[in-house]
Formats: sequence, C-alpha cells, structure tokens
Amino acid sequence: MPNIRRELRPDGICLLWFDRAHSPANVFDPDTLRELDEHVRAIAADRATIGVVILSAKEKVFHAGADLHTPAGLKEDELLRFIELGQEVFNRLEALRVPKVAAIHGACVGGGYEMALACDYRVASPDHATRIGLPEVTLGLVPAWGGSTRLPRVAGMPCALDVILGGKMLPAKQALRCGLIDEIAPREHLLAAACRAIRRNVPRRRAWLRWPPLNGLIGRVMTPFVRRQVMQRTRGNYPAALRAIQIVTASPWSSLAASLRREREAELELACSEVCRHLISIFFLQEHAKKPAPGEAKPMARAAVIGAGVMGAGIAQWLSAHGLRVLLRDVDPARVAAGMARIRKLFGERRVFSEIEARDGMDRISPVATDVPLGGVDIVIEAAVEKMALKTQLFARLDEQTQGRDIILATNTSALSIAQIANATQDPGRVVGIHFFNPVHKMQLVEIVAAPQTRPEIVQRAVRFAQQIGKLPVVVKDSPGFLVNRILLPYLIEAGLLFEAGARVADVDEAMLDFGMPMGPLRLIDEVGVDIAADVAATLAEKFSDRLRVPELLAKLIADGALGRKSGRGFYVHARGGKTTANEATNRFRSGNAAAELSRADLQRRLALLLVNEAARCVEEGIASGPADVDFAMVMGTGFAPFRGGPLRFAESSGLNNVVNDLTRLAATRPQYAPCELLRRLAAKGKGFYET
Ligand code: NAD
Repeated sequence: MPNIRRELRPDGICLLWFDRAHSPANVFDPDTLRELDEHVRAIAADRATIGVVILSAKEKVFHAGADLHTPAGLKEDELLRFIELGQEVFNRLEALRVPKVAAIHGACVGGGYEMALACDYRVASPDHATRIGLPEVTLGLVPAWGGSTRLPRVAGMPCALDVILGGKMLPAKQALRCGLIDEIAPREHLLAAACRAIRRNVPRRRAWLRWPPLNGLIGRVMTPFVRRQVMQRTRGNYPAALRAIQIVTASPWSSLAASLRREREAELELACSEVCRHLISIFFLQEHAKKPAPGEAKPMARAAVIGAGVMGAGIAQWLSAHGLRVLLRDVDPARVAAGMARIRKLFGERRVFSEIEARDGMDRISPVATDVPLGGVDIVIEAAVEKMALKTQLFARLDEQTQGRDIILATNTSALSIAQIANATQDPGRVVGIHFFNPVHKMQLVEIVAAPQTRPEIVQRAVRFAQQIGKLPVVVKDSPGFLVNRILLPYLIEAGLLFEAGARVADVDEAMLDFGMPMGPLRLIDEVGVDIAADVAATLAEKFSDRLRVPELLAKLIADGALGRKSGRGFYVHARGGKTTANEATNRFRSGNAAAELSRADLQRRLALLLVNEAARCVEEGIASGPADVDFAMVMGTGFAPFRGGPLRFAESSGLNNVVNDLTRLAATRPQYAPCELLRRLAAKGKGFYET
C-alpha cells in the first residue's frame, strides 16, 4: 500500500501527502523512505514543478518520525543502512532546486521534523495537536537524519541545544519564537500559506545565522555550561545527551557530510546500548497503555467529584480541561471555594491554556456544598479524606442517590480496601478504585483498582475513561498500597531506618539520585509529608508485619512538628523559594550508628534491591498483570530511573543470581531483604521475568 500520495496542481505546485495505510500516524520505515525517495527523484526530473508542499492527511499527526519497531529487528549493518537511507533521502529533498515547504498540523517530531528541516520553510497550525521537536535523547538516541546538523543552522545554537538536549516538543507559538518554524497559519489556511511561501521564494533565515562561525563560536562558549547542566541533571546516566552536545556544537564548523557522519556513528553506538533498549521499551509500554480498551467506546460527559481538597480539585480541573462537565462537592462553601481557587490557579497557567480555554474550563465546573442529586452524571469520583468510616458512609449515600442508573462509583483512596468500601453499597460490582497520583495535572499514571466484586465491564470502562482524559491506566488488584505505593513504601521505610541507624541524609538521597531516581527517598518523605508517609507505612506494616517495621523516628519527627515541606522542616529545612538543607536537629532522634559507615554504593544497592524485591513480590502475587505493568507503573508513577527500564528490568540487567545473593546476605540484618520465592525460583532456573 502506498503511504505517500503525489499530486501536481495546475499552478505547478506539487503536494506530497503523507497518509500511512491503516494507521493513525505517519512513520518512516525503510519502505516509506524509499517511497519518499522515488517521489523526490520524480520531482527532480519534472521541469513543470515550481515548488513542493509536504502535508499530512492524518487528524492529529503530521509525522511521528522513525518507526521504532524497525531498529529493534535490525542487525548492526542493517541499522546503519537505515540511518544512511534517511540521511540520503533528506539530502536529496534538500537539494531539489525548487522551494520546499512543510505544512505542519499535528505532531511533527523526530524524523518527521528532520524531514521538515530539509525543507526551506515551515508553516504550522496553532492547534493543540501540533507539537514540534526532536525527542530522540529521551529515547537514548540522537537526531541522526540530519536533525543535529540542520537545527543549529536553522534555529541557531542556543535553541538547537535547548530543544535537542531537552528532547522538547513545542507548541506552534513557542516553536515560532525559537525559530523551529517560520510561520503560523490556521489549519484550514495551511496549504494556502505554504503556496504563498513558495511563490515568494524567500526562505527566511535569521540574519546572524548566515554567518556560521558566529553560530559555531556561540556553541564553543556554551559547551562547558550545557555539559555541566546535563551532567547535573542526568548524572551521566544518559550518554545520548553528551553525544548530542558534541555533534550539535561541532556542526557549524563542519561540512554537511562530516556532521552527518558523526550523527551516524553516534546513533549506531547508542541504538545498540542497553539504555536505549530500556527507554524504547518504556515508550512502547506508554503506547500500549494508550491503546483503546475493548468494549463500547461511549465517552463520559459528566462527572461528580466528592471532596474539593488537593486531589479533588486537581481531578475536577483535569476532567474539565478534557471537556467534561463536573460537579464539585465538599462539606461547606469555604472548602468548595478553596478548591475552586486551586482550580483557577491551574487554569491560569498561560503556557497551557488560553484565556478563553481557562474561562470555558472554569464554566464547566459547578461547585456545590449540599447533597444535590447526582442522577445526570456518568461517573462519581470520591476524593474525600482518607477514613474508612467516612468513605463507607459516603458510598452508601452515593449508592442511594444513583440507584438504578448506569453510573460508576469510583474512589481515589490511596490505601483503603476497595472491597470494604464497595460492600457499603447495594451494588458493589460498580465500585472501582481510580487512583490518581499527586499532582494530578503532572502525573500521567492512574491505577485502576479492581476489587473482587468489581464487574470486569466496570474495570474496562474505568480504563477507557482514564484513556479518554489522557492518562495512562494500569489495572491492579485491591491489595494494601495497590501497586506503586506497595513497592515504594518498603523503600521509604528502609531509607528512614538507615537514617535512624546513622546514615547521613545527603548520603542516602545522593545515592539514589545517582541511581537515577528523580528525588532521594528522605526528600520524598518530606514532600509527601512525614505524617502521611507514617500513616501509609503503618497500614502496610500491619499487613506485612513479618517483614515491615515503621521507624520510630517518624513518630518522633511528627511529635516534634517536623512534618516535612508543609511545616518547613523534616529531614530537611525547607526555606522559602524551595532551597533545602539537611535538618541537623533531626540527628538527635537517631538510635545507633551501625549504618554510618555504609558507602553511597552500599546504600544504593540496598535501597534499589528493596524496590526489586517488592516489585517481584507484586508479580508473584498477581497485583498487576505481569512484569511489564510493574516496570511501567514504577517508571510512570515514581520516576524510577527510566534508563534502567523499571525495577524488574534492572534486576535482570544486574543478574538475578547476584540480586538473590545480595538480598540473602542482607536478610541477616533485616527480614524485609529476604528474597521472595519468585526471585529465588527464577534465579535458580537461570530465567528472567521477561521471557525473551
Ligand atoms: P484533602 O484533605 O486535601 O481533601 C479532602 C477533602 O474532602 C476536604 O476538602 C474535606 O472537606 C472533604 N470532605 C470530607 N468529608 C467530605 C464529605 N462527606 N463530602 C465531601 N467532601 C468531604 O485530602 P486529599 O489529599 O485531597 O486526599 C483525598 C483522597 O485522595 C484521600 O482518599 C487520599 O488518600 C487520596 N489521595 C491523596 C493523594 C495525595 O498525595 N494527597 C494522592 C492520591 C490519593
């Protein structure tokens, strides 16, 4: 099936329509590159053509770049050929003697934007779907179809470094400001704007970019700064960013051919690395979570959110931003007003919402402080305080108010039993957990918690609902801590115990930052709140009393009023403006110094192994449907070092035998280190979690 249509208009402008068969997106595999090559050669041979416009026939995607399934199946020499092919085709496109314009609506990323960079002019629609950039480094790669070479020449060195190293995908307005595109035109006028640009025949370039040595000089000056920044941010765990700096900053001094050769060499090396494999596996898991769940696809239009606190307000805002009408209920007008103020602040984020979008978003939310009828909604999401007695009472009433109607009753509880909450209703089959993470507008993961009574059809509808509102759902079993908190808590508890036993705050947190976590565990306790962490830890310790013990230190901190960020001090002192320093006053609550001598490497190994052990237990107990869901949830829900691919992939990379041996050795000091049965079994059989 052809993926590209060529159409020569009577005025001599040739349109290249990208429209991949049976797919919502356009991508490049070797065949599509060859297809583009044929069109480019035909245009070169046709004297009647006065210009070329590249467009997409897809609703939301201009071009998504290389098909990432392709490199996975290629041998090294085939991969090199694939990279070379892309470079050659884009070079030929660039060399056409007529003006070429990319008319961009929808995502234009990676290889798609590299094709646009080989054009002379780029015009884009201002729609939300339009995102432009080069996200390759987030996949452990560099833009290697000319992107690392051409972007500094098109948009200048500072912008090229910013976009490539950040793996950024910018909306049209920002892309125009940075020079990634040359013009914005409404979707319906895109083609007309592109044709106008061809007739004008003036590729616009910023004046200073016409003098490459200046661009190169800026690159030389910036190199040490950006290197330092990247090292601080990634701790050297993402080699692609460092390779990209070398290629991008050298490009103004180099010929096109030399710079493209550097791109090829780097790409080949990076694509064969474990880091890249892991990052791409996480990307595929994200794509998988977006695939529509089976069943009737009627979208939800109205929701009621009960509780207008941190989570309730966050959920209401997110739902409204995704077009739902929302009823937001709390116990009194003051609390509802506080919730609405929170929502207004979120809608006030001007980089995300225009004034009109914010106003419409606020208008879709109806705040109430009374027990109004709920018959007209499709789903109720309860986000009131975390008390079982309150939740059962609330659900009994919600059940009464919605009886006989096809309405899902969901709770956002972090740790309480969904089954117990469901039993407070006449129809427990329609009760499900929809566990959003905090802050709702930033965290993509949502746990869909199925109690034994929850009807499978309700679980599927909850999954589709999460997808409808742009979240990534993972279905988990109703068990203490569900999946993410269940794995995270033993790790946080252990960090507390290590501190109690003499380890320094900086050593514990730096060890895990080096490992690739976005935040150290003690800092995370401060952010969550020492009291809340202690509560959830106590719930888990009650269930797993054979191996978990809440550090006494947490009770001492709470008694001292050191609750973390919200009280200004915890393991850290939190100054205004976000600055933190270790809180030396906490040291008096220590009860020993056995851990004082542990090196950062020791601390890291212990803490990482605990995450592995609990993750393996979750697979063993069927808390999630398999290892991929566990790895995915940990990366998306906690920021677990994405380049390691999740705790289970990390365990496999470390060698399961080594993991089991280390855990067994450590179990002599604390029972929670005892390797779980599944880990032992797999290690003994020489198998992994993922059957390859
Ligand atoms: P919060 O204390 O900020 O807000 C709770 C709100 O519920 C308050 O405004 C309170 O007035 C209201 N409320 C109490 N009784 C009510 C009733 N009968 N009807 C309507 N509203 C009532 O709490 P939060 O942090 O938003 O947490 C809400 C829920 O979400 C809890 O179950 C919590 O475990 C869960 N959760 C919290 C987080 C988090 O990080 N804060 C993350 C995930 C899940």
